[in-house]
Amino acid sequence: MNFDGLADYLQQMEKCGRCADCTYSVKISTAKKHISLPCPIRNVLGFETYSARGRIIILKKLLEGELEIDENIVQWAGLCLTCASCKETCLAIEGGIDVPAMMECLRRELVEAGYYLDAHASIEKNVLEKFNPYGEDHERRFEFLNPTPIGEKADVVYFVGCTSSYRRQEIAKATVDLLNKAGVDFTVLEDERCCGSTLFRTGFVKTAREFAKHNINQISEVGAKTVVFSCAGCYRTFAQDYALLWNGGKVKLMHIVEFLKRLRDQNKISFASPQRVRVTYHDPCHLGRHMNVFEDPRSLLKSTANVELVEMETNRRYAHCCGAGSGVKKAFPDIALQISKQRLKEAAETQAEILVSACPFCKTNLVDGADGLGIKIMDITEFLANSYTEESTIMEELERELTLGQRFAKYLDNHPKIFADLVPDSVVDFSLFDTLENFEDEKPPLEVFHVVRTEDGITVQEGKANAADVEIAFSPKAVENLISSNDEKQYAKRFGKFYNEPTEETWIDFLLNKSTRVLIKMGYGKFAREAGILEDEDAY
Ligand code: SF4
Ligand code: SF4
Repeated sequence: MNFDGLADYLQQMEKCGRCADCTYSVKISTAKKHISLPCPIRNVLGFETYSARGRIIILKKLLEGELEIDENIVQWAGLCLTCASCKETCLAIEGGIDVPAMMECLRRELVEAGYYLDAHASIEKNVLEKFNPYGEDHERRFEFLNPTPIGEKADVVYFVGCTSSYRRQEIAKATVDLLNKAGVDFTVLEDERCCGSTLFRTGFVKTAREFAKHNINQISEVGAKTVVFSCAGCYRTFAQDYALLWNGGKVKLMHIVEFLKRLRDQNKISFASPQRVRVTYHDPCHLGRHMNVFEDPRSLLKSTANVELVEMETNRRYAHCCGAGSGVKKAFPDIALQISKQRLKEAAETQAEILVSACPFCKTNLVDGADGLGIKIMDITEFLANSYTEESTIMEELERELTLGQRFAKYLDNHPKIFADLVPDSVVDFSLFDTLENFEDEKPPLEVFHVVRTEDGITVQEGKANAADVEIAFSPKAVENLISSNDEKQYAKRFGKFYNEPTEETWIDFLLNKSTRVLIKMGYGKFAREAGILEDEDAY
């Protein structure tokens, strides 16, 4: 059998030092915390054959002709979620050895040679005959969405996707509801067909490309400038697998969380949960690791009044997969269910009442595994549609209920430009005191939160950082003043004034836990210069 495509990855395979960080990662330098078992399939089946290290050994044997293709190899090839969790903990090359891409490549070459799992072939058959993997009636795809605009000229296309059209209609309804409430000029495609995501992932690439071309043509006909997705899988497929087929098109692709965050930032929408609720967020692999969208959903949830967002032990880049993707749920439903239960255990440990995700496929597998756990599972579109408020007065009242520290944290979260120059992984600790004496006597502060700069953006998190670089204290009046600043420039100017010319009412003080030279290297210099608090800069 010919492995021309797989052979292109040989150099990467040879970089594998067999350290097993992809299997039992304890590299705190990589993960910032103890993330013990990155590969969900290996975690359930227990054999290293299924983790990246084992896979590389087998892939090399295939390339060297030492292994014959048989039923076991085809099963093994189908048993990878392509979740990319192993890439995150692999330090062998920048970005990690790309085992998920190798597995996709192998599957494509296997399918071309006539080797595939029957369950995956049935998906292709359904897509070819019915234009969706579920084998449902194509003509009735959007019946449930009436009277949504269909096939009209519009600036925005909402690409619904097969799972939200046939299995998770509540997600499509919630998305349409949000777009309508926000006054967005949108349409759905008259003849939307499967995006091909599962076909691309399971190796049926030729068929998937035909469907890609059809959907691209449909979008061109509508003349849309933006396509919005509520399915993480469709989004990634359009952005990455369709990339070479767009023919230089200038269409902007956005997941609904990115789209809603932009509307929220423009003050066009706001959210307030009807009751106080503790929520945790599950990162879909296709949205997080594959598309780098980690902070927008969190920002939306955090800015929803009455919501407390708590993180699971593995989150963002290190989040465990729900277990459904890449054809695994279809071909190995029991394994998908076991992985879902492991993820749900992490969610339950946070004591959140609701587990929110941003992908219909994640929701399905998490719902299937949640039996008896007592945690509610919702897509972010449903959660936000339930929390939508047009009444700015409601928001203002809820804002008034927040403590000063919470309002300050919220302001910083909504103005990430203030920290735009910080290098990744730096932390600023904020401690709020109402008198200077308390600060100096090391009495507990009124409020504590920290601003964390990660590679993905700025987040404001409750609680004190373990090793803050800077600790800052403010008078309440100074905080009130700072959070009424229009932009980062005005914020810096006021910050400098309160530090350099403190009054009894408006003062700022801080403790540096690192040398000024180190802090400048970490990116604090620009803000300090702008605020006028960097004395004798030449000395550094
Ligand atoms: S794939 Fe990366 S993390 Fe896994 S054994 Fe090889 S070098 Fe180590
Ligand atoms: S992509 Fe996910 S399932 Fe596949 S080997 Fe890597 S961690 Fe395991």
